[in-house]
Amino acid sequence: MTKETIGYLALGSNQGDRESHLENAIVKLEEETDISIVKASSIYETDPVGVTDQPAFLNMVVKFETSLDPVKLLKVTQKVEQMGGRVGKGTWGPRTIDLDILLLNDENIQLETLQVPHPRMLERGFVLLPLKEVEPHLRLNAGRSIDEYINQLTDKEGVRKWKSSFGGEGFARFES
Ligand code: ATP
Ligand code: CA
Ligand code: CA
Repeated sequence: MTKETIGYLALGSNQGDRESHLENAIVKLEEETDISIVKASSIYETDPVGVTDQPAFLNMVVKFETSLDPVKLLKVTQKVEQMGGRVGKGTWGPRTIDLDILLLNDENIQLETLQVPHPRMLERGFVLLPLKEVEPHLRLNAGRSIDEYINQLTDKEGVRKWKSSFGGEGFARFES
């Protein structure tokens, strides 16, 4: 089946074995026949934003292709979150794994359960820095370069490259 949608997903974890939570989520996504991971960024360590009284996050971004429609894709990412041990809602609080859909082609989706582009992505260093790594020439809103948004960030210092790529077997093909 052709996978006509190209998208980007942000992954985050700040509970337990954070790197394993990221890795396991990618493995689970790869197991879906309707989703293919194309590229993965390095892993970044990020001071928590918003609710600051919690452990540091590991964050990364993956580029993927899918034949799923956006709502089905969200169901899959939520299933993977649950398999990764994420419990309850707790927006912005600690979690084993958080999967946010950033972009799907140039679609604009405004549903109650799903907004794409992700409404807060442009303000977040922990999203834009790994996103630039997987797609350096990406154009956002009205054709502006990702660098323009990165230059405007105020929280870049809180985002540090933590590991260049996954060390584990099976991830070599995602390395840039
Ligand atoms: P933020 O969205 O600011 O990063 P969060 O990730 O902590 O906050 P969650 O508690 O994980 O927020 O998600 C709350 C709801 O957001 C989900 O139940 C989902 O329906 C909705 N949602 C809307 N747009 C998206 C998107 N692009 N990707 C993932 N979830 C989304
Ligand atoms: Ca999030
Ligand atoms: Ca989320």
